[in-house]
Amino acid sequence: MSIAPHPPANRLPEFRRRLLAWFHSHKRSLPWRASRDPYRIWISEIMLQQTRVAAVLPYYRRFLERFPTVRALSRAPESAVLEAWAGLGYYSRARNLHRAAKEIVRLHSGKFPRAHVAALALPGVGRYTAAAVLSIAYGASLAVLDGNVARVLARLGAVRGDLRQPARWRLLEAAAQRLLASRSPADWNQAMMELGATVCTPRAPSCPECPVARFCRARALGLQDSIPAKRDKRPPEDVRLAAAVLLDAHRRTLLIQPANGAGEALFSRMWQFPALRVERDPLSELRRHLRDTLGIEPALCVPLPSARHAVTFRRVTLLPFLVTVGQLPGVTGADSAALPLDEVEHWATSSATRKIARAALRGARAG
Ligand code: SF4
Repeated sequence: MSIAPHPPANRLPEFRRRLLAWFHSHKRSLPWRASRDPYRIWISEIMLQQTRVAAVLPYYRRFLERFPTVRALSRAPESAVLEAWAGLGYYSRARNLHRAAKEIVRLHSGKFPRAHVAALALPGVGRYTAAAVLSIAYGASLAVLDGNVARVLARLGAVRGDLRQPARWRLLEAAAQRLLASRSPADWNQAMMELGATVCTPRAPSCPECPVARFCRARALGLQDSIPAKRDKRPPEDVRLAAAVLLDAHRRTLLIQPANGAGEALFSRMWQFPALRVERDPLSELRRHLRDTLGIEPALCVPLPSARHAVTFRRVTLLPFLVTVGQLPGVTGADSAALPLDEVEHWATSSATRKIARAALRGARAG
């Protein structure tokens, strides 16, 4: 397998000039672009993984208000970091950020390391993130390759096949590095990403507005809509989840935070209501779960309206029950907290847990 160098060497200067000129006149004004502070760039790059810019913007602002420096982030308890991340999804990103901040303080005097190897050793920092932070903050000559850039490169060179296939991805990394304008790697990397995000989009690329259309093989061949090749999608999995919103006489409920590997994986390790996946009879299965794990046999379990929730390839149906108890049970094998039901929103919980809490509040008022 190989990818022919494209554009050819004698046309590279013009290619770079055109793309950089377009970037300078068309780039979106985004808060992380106003700074060369590696901490701010790192936070933005982690938040933007698998997440749209519009969704990231309010989180980015609030996160930096709360943790304005690496040291502030490293000193914060994990629960505070997860709370600031709540709703953004993929919570391992927040945990890795927190762990990496501690390592940066411990090993690198509180400054994101300049050395590529040291950056790659940080939790949650892979080849893409290291190249993005080091090139944008420090001007390192490292080309980024993410889904957007890979798509642009594949179309420019009319590269067929699955781009995520490891051998092909490595060839694309080499192609990205070859194109890199080494005098301005920060702008170059952002220009490639911006082109992929705003012009050379996954569906219906805007070729007439593209500053490098004259270099594009896919366009010349009429293949811009069929490159990259579609990946085989994992078929969606339907999951039903029953959750118990316990409620005592003081309208307090119980949240648990399972240790690693325990609990319902769909909620990650966030605070959550006792829950389990169910097959046939949600109420009986939930009752059995409450008896086996919490030692309670509640008399009153009222079903609340179900809700839909999507997690990657899973389509989750949430089946919450309002479970009235005389007294909240103790919990072993997990952290637990008794708190007023209307305060669940303010804890480090997933959006699924908050959906359940809102349904329970409505149910409790109606009851
Ligand atoms: Fe993408 Fe079209 Fe530009 Fe080619 S010409 S790089 S397909 S936007």
